[in-house]
Amino acid sequence: MDLTVKPGDDFYQYANGVWLKNNPIPAKETRWGSFNVLRDFNINAVKTILNESAENKNAAPGSLEKRVGDFYASGMDSATIEKLGYTPIKADLKRAGSVKDLKAVLNEVALLKTSGTASPMFGFYVGQDRKNVENMIPQLSQGGTTLPDRDYYLKDDARSKKIQEAYKTYITKLFTLTGVPQATAEKNAETIFSLEKKLAEAQMSRVEMRDPYKTYNKFAVAELSKTTPNIDWKPLMAKMKVTGQDTILVSNPKFFTELNSLLTSTPIADWQTYLQWNVLKSAAPYLSSAFVDANFAFTQTLSGQKVQTPRWQRMSSLTDNAIGELLGQLYVKKYFKPEAKARMNEMISNLVKAYEIRIKGLEWMSDETKEKALAKLHAFKPKVGYPDKWKDYKGLAINRNTFFENVRNSGKWSYDDMVSQLGKPVDRTKWGMTPPTVNAYYSPVMNEIVFPAGILQFPFFDPNADDAVNYGGIGAVIGHEISHGFDDSGSQYDKDGTLRNWWTPEDLTRFKERANSLARQFDAYTVLDTIHVNGKLTLGENIGDLGGLNAAYEAFKMTKQGQSNELIDGFTPDQRFFLAWAQVWRMNIRPETAAQLIITDPHSPGEYRTIGAPVNMDAWYKAFDVKPGDKLYIKPEDRIRIW
Ligand SMILES: [Zn+2]
Repeated sequence: MDLTVKPGDDFYQYANGVWLKNNPIPAKETRWGSFNVLRDFNINAVKTILNESAENKNAAPGSLEKRVGDFYASGMDSATIEKLGYTPIKADLKRAGSVKDLKAVLNEVALLKTSGTASPMFGFYVGQDRKNVENMIPQLSQGGTTLPDRDYYLKDDARSKKIQEAYKTYITKLFTLTGVPQATAEKNAETIFSLEKKLAEAQMSRVEMRDPYKTYNKFAVAELSKTTPNIDWKPLMAKMKVTGQDTILVSNPKFFTELNSLLTSTPIADWQTYLQWNVLKSAAPYLSSAFVDANFAFTQTLSGQKVQTPRWQRMSSLTDNAIGELLGQLYVKKYFKPEAKARMNEMISNLVKAYEIRIKGLEWMSDETKEKALAKLHAFKPKVGYPDKWKDYKGLAINRNTFFENVRNSGKWSYDDMVSQLGKPVDRTKWGMTPPTVNAYYSPVMNEIVFPAGILQFPFFDPNADDAVNYGGIGAVIGHEISHGFDDSGSQYDKDGTLRNWWTPEDLTRFKERANSLARQFDAYTVLDTIHVNGKLTLGENIGDLGGLNAAYEAFKMTKQGQSNELIDGFTPDQRFFLAWAQVWRMNIRPETAAQLIITDPHSPGEYRTIGAPVNMDAWYKAFDVKPGDKLYIKPEDRIRIW
């Protein structure tokens, strides 16, 4: 903490100042805060499991240890990887570079997607139909680009231009590494950039993409083909292993009509280059060091990271990404305590109780809408720690000596697993995050809140800490995830997860007014020189924080400590509650990463998450004696109250 600062002037510094000063960002990281410290702790825990598994000579064939150990060991075998150079993708490059006509281009797109090689041209996935949630449906989305957002192609300020140049240098470098002459490689870079720029121009902004109605466009497959005469979706879907589906959801139909025009206005030779690029960029992190280094040099421009992440750490993350529910079983066995699950379930039920009290007490909402909101609240399904039913990755071949094939096979396995859900009942046992993940999520179509084992640790959660610390930490995280069900997007889904309005028009207007005020509050926060937080992009997360912290506080006040005034280390229970919240969000961040996240990340920067909710809570003013004249002071009548 920095006790020389007045909490009412700068609560973030007050709660975190000395920590921020004493904890610079490690060279291999792009930001450093509570999340990262816990992630670092976890990745080291995972490393122990991986090393033990990889070194266990007695692991039975097909056992968890054997499969996890072999996957990791293959990635650590840098000598073999180095020797192979780019051999693993030679055949793909040749094939992608020799497509002769449009039909072949599209077939190649399907092949790259289904083989776990790359995801060119557009996005595709299988998920619940949000207007008919018992049904799994194929879904098409905009895509085909490489830079983190369409803005990177469309803007021409100095920061964007620097990244565009670095991107072209990166493309050139990867092509030359496969023997393409420098001049041709440079020409390829221009071709790819200009093609991807056209795809970017057809994309919606991230704010537009947050509208679940705007992005819900259902087509009969035959009808969709009429809007894109150059793409006959029925045979293309068959190539993508999707059969027997009459309808398809499209998030952005305009993207596909633009793509349709691009298909014929772009020479086949350019599509060849584009497809080759997709093979190259997807494989680069898994090839020899020349490719990995080129990839890192480009990432550096984007993120500001100083040195490459060590190989063991990259391979740990990759193992978690590829076979996370095999690794997760070992992780949970070794690190997850059943007591934590019991305590979490108790806290979740207290948070739901607190939320119920708050909904009932809302002065801006009618009884009619309250009833629906309460029904939704009580329909929430929590998942804690790890899945009841594990993915077995049946049929996924993992060989200790073939790293690249392991990565490919796992990509292919995931694709097959995804399309295999079509025509089957929705599997509600599935998890969207792996057990070691330090994060949590809400799914509107499942109406579920999910907390992986990884986040159920200090500083979010500590069974030995006082309630103030746990409610200000994981309690607020639970409240945050519940509030996603009631944020500007989640609130459009009903208790069954269906996208269907349950609000009276008056209540909806009042909710939107309040949400707009919160968006304006965050719009006013600056990050770097002229860059502001995007209040509309971060609105869902900020409603989550405001609703979540209020509910956590309400639940905390029901505990024994919450009702006492006993000081610990000189701080009152309420002060400790808000300090726990503030310390969860402390974070040093590289300016390059901050600039990127402001465009791509729906979460506000940690500094503003720290203050954004408390400045709207009377309890915070009381706890720290914040008065008119203090920099963060907001008049009681201007404080935003949503949930
Ligand atoms: Zn969130």
